[in-house]
Amino acid sequence: MKPELRRPLIAGNWKLHKTLAESRALAAGVVERCSRSASEVDVAVAPVFTALASVREVLADTAIALCAQNVYWESRGAFTGEVSPPLLADAGCSHVIVGHSERRTLLGETDVDVRRKALAVLAAGLVPIVCVGESLAQREAGESEAHVLQQTSAVIDGLDPAAMARVVIAYEPIWAIGTGRTASPSDAQAMHARIRALVAERQGARLAEATRILYGGSVKADNARTLMAEPDVDGALVGGASLETDSFAAIVAAALR
Ligand code: PEP
Repeated sequence: MKPELRRPLIAGNWKLHKTLAESRALAAGVVERCSRSASEVDVAVAPVFTALASVREVLADTAIALCAQNVYWESRGAFTGEVSPPLLADAGCSHVIVGHSERRTLLGETDVDVRRKALAVLAAGLVPIVCVGESLAQREAGESEAHVLQQTSAVIDGLDPAAMARVVIAYEPIWAIGTGRTASPSDAQAMHARIRALVAERQGARLAEATRILYGGSVKADNARTLMAEPDVDGALVGGASLETDSFAAIVAAALR
């Protein structure tokens, strides 16, 4: 039985998709289809930066949260092209994805960068969704656990308890993202339990029990329920299936207890 304080969280990562009109339409669909579930499940959507203001209007006075896909760690200054946590808060975001594997592998983000981003997000009062996960090569070399725990400790070590209480971790094996392959529920559970044990070791058992650990990687309507039935899987970070209202709403419904 999962503790009450770990309310499921389903976050839709829209990546580099959707025009303004499409973003508004998708957000409206999510509001219509997911608002009823939002009394039991936290729901967030992460549009592209240019659509944040539009989607904010659609989500106003609803329980659906606005999430950013990325952030920079400085608050202001000569950092052309970057967006800071205070500006994301000002734009209505409550959550920010940090360290997504696409940013780590395609754009060279390091564990140090991801920690800086998570700290800056926390300092602005927002919730970081910290992505961790191994590549196929690491998995085949038997290095998954060491890699994922290293990425996790890079962010959580030394956080003060109030900050740690807001951190969400998303375990996203890279080989499962956008590929149609998912970790089996038991493999996902094993890694989630290992991550939670690390949080307990570094931050204490109470905080570990309260930390939400999402699974991500080809989560669909037909596999969401079995994944989230695992005791340490507290929700999902959803890419492809978040781009259609029907599939996203079905995943949200699968999170109802
Ligand atoms: C993601 O982008 O975080 C993700 C999990 O994508 P998908 O669901 O498409 O695998």
